Amino acid sequence: MSAKKENRIRAPRGTSDYLPDRAASIHRLDRLAGEVFSNYGYQRIITPTFEDTALFTRSIGEASDIVRKEMYTFEDRGGRSLTLRPEATAPVVRAFIEHNLGSQSLPVKLYYFSNMFRYERPQAGRFREFWQLGVEALGSPEPSLDAEVITLAADFLRALDIREGLMKIGSMGDENCRPQYTLILQKYLEEKRDSFCPDCGERLKFNPLRVFDCKNSECQKALADAPKMIDYLCDECRDHFDGVGRLLKEVGIEFSIDPMLVRGFDYYTRTTFEIQSSQLGAQNALGGGGRYDRLVSDYGGKPTPAVGFALGIERLLAALKAEENVDLSTPRKIDVFLIVIDNEHRDQAFKLAIELRRIGLSAEVDYMNRSTRSQMKLADKMGAEYALILGPDEMARGEVVMRNLSTGEERPEKLSSVADKLGKIKGFE
Ligand code: AMP
Repeated sequence: MSAKKENRIRAPRGTSDYLPDRAASIHRLDRLAGEVFSNYGYQRIITPTFEDTALFTRSIGEASDIVRKEMYTFEDRGGRSLTLRPEATAPVVRAFIEHNLGSQSLPVKLYYFSNMFRYERPQAGRFREFWQLGVEALGSPEPSLDAEVITLAADFLRALDIREGLMKIGSMGDENCRPQYTLILQKYLEEKRDSFCPDCGERLKFNPLRVFDCKNSECQKALADAPKMIDYLCDECRDHFDGVGRLLKEVGIEFSIDPMLVRGFDYYTRTTFEIQSSQLGAQNALGGGGRYDRLVSDYGGKPTPAVGFALGIERLLAALKAEENVDLSTPRKIDVFLIVIDNEHRDQAFKLAIELRRIGLSAEVDYMNRSTRSQMKLADKMGAEYALILGPDEMARGEVVMRNLSTGEERPEKLSSVADKLGKIKGFE
């Protein structure tokens, strides 16, 4: 590689430029989410890209992989410790408390579409900057709210025509039943300690449930006979779990119960769920979420039970591509291309293009001194519906030629009124 090339600055490892086609797909996902989510009564929220570091260390948990290894934490010039958001639940909860949103009629239902940052080892489906679409519904402990959130996630995938999503549901219990279960699990893990990887050896001391998250196949094997939270739920948690399942069945959501489903954040209580895709290889989770009844009060807010989920946008796009069913990147088509034959008419073409755009049409004009032939080719390539040709003879009479590029039909039009005329044809006044 030449020295010059080596010095070239590239996008940081684990990040990507979303070039226009991909950016357009993301924009369409965002719009579609807006439609589906607003039918369910969710409103958009935008929180800062970075937050006080303590917001995440407290909520996600000191022992979690995210806090231990994956946060982009920096000190600003004022000596504050800040962190680029690795997830959005904690920021939304902070905003909920800070702006007293709990005083509105409950539940408060919010959604976000934001970029997240995690210092992970980049690989297919795993990046250092990625996008998530998620919801948070705050204010009700009812299983119907869990069922609503899960149904919304499933309906959104349905709207995208993603058919290969598998919904898995579990429960993490609550403060009544989880501590007792954790001790039982810890005892089991201690007995089998030698079967686990060194990381799990650490986990079983501080956070035994996290062992279920380990991808190591030996650890997974050793876990096959481990006691499962789902068998140790207290009566309230069991009723809640059954309630969620019953409602999901009533609205036709297919799911399976996964007794090993423990999600990587400390704040979950009761319901957890994950949507996997058979199309995605190792990083097969399209998204997931769960209930977090204690998080708002842990931050000093009024006790407010809540539930939410996040879907990974890059993984949704990968699943769409794998299923080859929806092409979100519509090729750009324009209304009008202005073709200049004589260079002296370039300024008039420029003015006319602006006039057309101001009416509401998409119009393009050549800025590269192309030949007439090349301009024609470009108009075709851009899928222009009309060409306006500024020929010298016509221009001398104050006219241009308007050509319909699909029929080839053409006729002269007055330069002074052609924009209005095209505007009317296209339905703009
Ligand atoms: P989590 O917030 O970890 O529950 O992740 C929710 C979803 O976000 C996952 O199921 C993935 O689809 C996506 N996701 C999480 N981490 C990454 C990452 N590093 N790169 C791309 N997508 C991610």
